[in-house]
Amino acid sequence: MKGKMKAQVFYEPEVMKLEEMDIPQISDDEVLVKVKTAGICGSDIAYYYGDSPLDTPDGKGPLILGHEFSGEIVEVGKIPKSLGLFAPGDRVTCNPVQQCNSCEYCSEGKFNVCPNVTTPGVSADGAFAEYCKMRYTHVYKIPDDMSYETASIIEPLACATYGVNKLDVKPGDFVVVFGSGSIGILMVQLIKARGAGKVALVDMSDYKLGIGKEVGADYILNIKEKQSPNYVDDVVKEISRLTGGRMADRVIVPTSAKRAMQEAIDVSGAWATIVYFGLPGPDDKIEVPALSSIQSDITIKFSWLAPLVWPQTIRTLGAGLVSVDKIVTHRFSLEQLEEAIEFMKSSPEDKLKGVVVVDE
Ligand SMILES: [Zn+2]
Ligand SMILES: [Zn+2]
Repeated sequence: MKGKMKAQVFYEPEVMKLEEMDIPQISDDEVLVKVKTAGICGSDIAYYYGDSPLDTPDGKGPLILGHEFSGEIVEVGKIPKSLGLFAPGDRVTCNPVQQCNSCEYCSEGKFNVCPNVTTPGVSADGAFAEYCKMRYTHVYKIPDDMSYETASIIEPLACATYGVNKLDVKPGDFVVVFGSGSIGILMVQLIKARGAGKVALVDMSDYKLGIGKEVGADYILNIKEKQSPNYVDDVVKEISRLTGGRMADRVIVPTSAKRAMQEAIDVSGAWATIVYFGLPGPDDKIEVPALSSIQSDITIKFSWLAPLVWPQTIRTLGAGLVSVDKIVTHRFSLEQLEEAIEFMKSSPEDKLKGVVVVDE
């Protein structure tokens, strides 16, 4: 499609410019998406502040950030067109992690570890723009009654789904979730939907924990705000009390806080499964007590991205098993993106998820 579009271009830490540029030209295997809503991810904030290098060849901008988005198809490349897969007007969401499909990992379906991924917003131009191009293999139609805002949460929900699939919750399990950010709030609902007996949610903010309670957490443990009725100074003791000494069957850690990563092991009972999800620093380590972990037959897993779960995620949402209504707490225009990123970074204890409404 010919024409110009508005886009927020990231150049270097804390330098982003709203620019007019050519609409991306699609290849035969791509579709052009008119962006409707794009979520602001923690990684977008990290890129903006230079806390994490971009996945571009030199680790730098210029690059359009944004990888969690929904929109409307406006142009269809030759291949998806000949296959009859998409048409202009289709309402879609996109899996940004576009693997190469030909390396050894891809050949075995291990798409999340493909070394040749192209990811809009990370290694290629992304969704903080009026248009974004995507390979047709990574575009999914959304139900007619699903809003674009809800559909923009499918990417983080897919990541949460992959992690919770690995957690392998059994009906009746006592589950501990460390972190009540937007991912933790989504995980609580997925875990309840799988029949968990009780879910305990641990965080540092009553505001976020309160949302966790509204979506189904049975116990909320605030480890920071001493004046809070939910304050606990010793999470391990409290989980022991709540489980009658049995400790947790399942523990998931959607936070990078070191204390949580360590306590996840301490609250685990016999035959427990722990899934690590939040991204720590490159040199952070988790200490595992070897003997007691072996003798308790504990399983430790890690979860990365969201391979092979997109249709499941869309069906989960469509079936009403998870509500994202309480996830989006702040909305911004494309013009406001820089201040939006600054705002979302400041006092994270009283906000969950910000989205950019690119087009109503
Ligand atoms: Zn993200
Ligand atoms: Zn590959």
